Amino acid sequence: MSAAASPERSSLSIRAAIPPNNLTELGRDAMRALVADLGQPAYRADQLFRWVFQKGARDLDAMTNVPKTLRAQLREAGYGVGRVTVGRVAESIDSTRKLSIKLQDGGVVETVLIPMEEGQFTQCLSSQLGCALDCKFCYTGTLGLSRHLTAGEIVDQVIVARAALPPGARVTHLVYMGMGEPLHNFDGVVDSLGPICDPDGLGYSLRKVTVSTSGLVPQIERLGKTAPVNLALSLNASNDAVRDAIMPVNKRYPLASLMKALREYPLPPRRKLTIEYVLLGGVNDADAHARELAVLLRGLPVRINLIPWNPFSGTGFERPADEQVRAFQQILKDRDYTVTVRTTKGLDIDAACGQLGERPDA
Ligand code: SAH
Ligand code: SF4
Repeated sequence: MSAAASPERSSLSIRAAIPPNNLTELGRDAMRALVADLGQPAYRADQLFRWVFQKGARDLDAMTNVPKTLRAQLREAGYGVGRVTVGRVAESIDSTRKLSIKLQDGGVVETVLIPMEEGQFTQCLSSQLGCALDCKFCYTGTLGLSRHLTAGEIVDQVIVARAALPPGARVTHLVYMGMGEPLHNFDGVVDSLGPICDPDGLGYSLRKVTVSTSGLVPQIERLGKTAPVNLALSLNASNDAVRDAIMPVNKRYPLASLMKALREYPLPPRRKLTIEYVLLGGVNDADAHARELAVLLRGLPVRINLIPWNPFSGTGFERPADEQVRAFQQILKDRDYTVTVRTTKGLDIDAACGQLGERPDA
């Protein structure tokens, strides 16, 4: 069995070679345990938590209401603050910003700020350095997996990106749709949701957060039980034969098991599942595929997001003609689905879906 088909196994050997002690890695409970170990009262942990995640402090000395003795104890124990730094920032003509995110072991991932309404951005977060799932149409997939990101490396993407926003702008929504398969890095992603959704941390409600997956069925079930955020599924095919050919993960978790997991997923109230469907010319974009998709999704609370394939070289795939995209959309609309075509943002800076990952010439 290939590595792509058995992601759980590959996760065992992946360890980050980064300094172990960092406050940005600690959830509320871990922060309390640390402070208790140091013989300090519990409310000091809550102060630290707010400094790290709400105020985005990058240095122990910035934490002015934390006693010097505690700061000295933390320093002595080797605790740093902040896991990542921003490298290059590329700005697209449509105002999309792509940030290179430098990890402490020299790795680089990317996060993208996508303009929505006036002054509001959606941030696309990376969860792994590369990806093991090997989807044939995805640039990140060609890189293979180097390692999972830690919870702190995921949360810190949100903290450091604040400085790259235009004045007065805010990130209102978070989507785990950058590099990597979030549910392959299940623990890292769930641990990152702690500070992200804590009112004393970054304060995002679960409704404002979406995790996108290629379809790891057991982890979809676990996510629903642990942190029921919005779910997006990268479906990309209307039958097993096509999905097997473009997404190796489908051989392990075929459509029947995936549809069952989606039906049982506990969405936040009044929310719909997002079904992402990358349109690949001549592969999955025929009228017959649209009709088959309509039948496959019948009865599920979904909105469908069609993504005309964003090209990169050496794949043999083609972006479908606009006319075919519209025809595909119309067939689904005629069957009462809500269907949007994802406007391609950031294409000129390789920040569009499936284009993330350092280029050799970057
Ligand atoms: N691994 C997760 C999240 C990251 S991929 C997942 O697969 O869901 C984010 C989205 O980009 C997925 O829906 C994927 O199907 C899509 N995608 C990948 N490569 C693409 C490309 N070249 N053009 C357009 N969309 C692509
Ligand atoms: Fe990984 Fe998602 Fe790309 Fe597939 S589409 S290779 S799961 S990042």
